[in-house]
Amino acid sequence: MHEMALAEGVLQLIEDAARREKAARVRLVVIEIGQLSAVEPEALRFCFAAVAEGSVAQEAVLQIVEVPGAGWCAACAATVAMAQLYSACPRCGQHRLQPTDGTQMRVREIEIVASTH
Ligand SMILES: [Zn+2]
Repeated sequence: MHEMALAEGVLQLIEDAARREKAARVRLVVIEIGQLSAVEPEALRFCFAAVAEGSVAQEAVLQIVEVPGAGWCAACAATVAMAQLYSACPRCGQHRLQPTDGTQMRVREIEIVASTH
């Protein structure tokens, strides 16, 4: 399950941000997961809860934004919806799609609670 490694990476980013901002704790984390990224949102949620335990992000709400996949079809010369990698173009049926969106997984936002000290 590669989501465990991803969750650890996300936590690392959060801890760095929290240290930089001198945060007491982290309230909210917004993560973008592309439809073509091969990341399972529920698996990531589960793994994140496991790795965040005992950290500054322990009580953070994990909000996952799913980004639809899109690809460029050279045959149609158009951007079309893409449900999965290597899928055929929904317009012409050819396998010439070049993914243009939805392959990413990134942290969009980290909301912290400032330390009062
Ligand atoms: Zn096409």
